[in-house]
Amino acid sequence: MIRKLFGSSRASGLVAGIAFAAINVLASLSAQAAAPMAHNPAPAFYRIMVGEFEITALSDGTVDLPMNKLLNQNQKKTDQALAHAFEQSPLETSVNTYLVNTGSKLILIDTGAGNLFGPTLGKLIANLKASGYQPEQVDEIYLTHMHPDHVGGLMTNGAIAFPNALLRADRHESEFWLSQSNMDQAAPDNKGFFQGAIASVNPYVKTGKYSPFDGNTELAPGVISILSQGHTVGHTSYLIQSKGQKLLLIGDLIHVAAVQFDTPSVTIAFDSDQKQAAAERLQVFSSIAKDGILVGAAHLPFPGLGHVGANGKGFRWIPVNYTQIR
Ligand SMILES: [Zn+2]
Repeated sequence: MIRKLFGSSRASGLVAGIAFAAINVLASLSAQAAAPMAHNPAPAFYRIMVGEFEITALSDGTVDLPMNKLLNQNQKKTDQALAHAFEQSPLETSVNTYLVNTGSKLILIDTGAGNLFGPTLGKLIANLKASGYQPEQVDEIYLTHMHPDHVGGLMTNGAIAFPNALLRADRHESEFWLSQSNMDQAAPDNKGFFQGAIASVNPYVKTGKYSPFDGNTELAPGVISILSQGHTVGHTSYLIQSKGQKLLLIGDLIHVAAVQFDTPSVTIAFDSDQKQAAAERLQVFSSIAKDGILVGAAHLPFPGLGHVGANGKGFRWIPVNYTQIR
């Protein structure tokens, strides 16, 4: 075959020589590949510009969640939808936070789980530092809501993790989760949610570093809160705008891409008002599919940034193209 291709025995001798040399190179390469695998995850931050604002998606890690039990639909249906996306339950689920540098303020949206949700989460501070910032530099923290995987990172080893930051959230949220009587009345399985919020947020309240807001409010130039209740009573999205470009951070408006884009009516056990959560998702997705706004979601695969397109009766997720700041 080689002779046929090259037409002379001299050429085939040359090819054999090259092949022999190649085998030698391969042999020496495989010997060098015996280094032990590093195993530690790569630092997980991802950076884009929105107008003149720098946005850094920061991973807090991932957590395996039994989505076929948590989603409020037939277990088989969830398993099938996950399999269709080459996924399975328990689903490795991202916990994403977002750092917004407006040029005059450094604002962190959500803080991950800290130590409230097991060892695979709580990586925000390490990734923040890897991205070039220090916790002391954060001026303000805005919470989408007060579930443990969003507030836990406010504290590190019993101390305030962001010593110079003002903490803000919708008043509905703090009045609900910081209430001792609500915690007393909660079902035993739900008390942990209250304990997590109280342990994480109260140190900021006690030191005068918590300032609630009421509904849609401009919190900083170019950063607006938008009340999007359903997942929790004060669940809030944040609209970031600079030079005509927009990013909407939607928190927990969605948890499972493989299911809830196709079927936005499917809710999750963590939704405090199932009906309202489904209606809110449908309304916001319809609006962003029309407007083409860039979206950031706390539990879509890191960095959780992309666009939502219309797709029949449902929607589809279009993750951002890879980009680097130049
Ligand atoms: Zn969450």
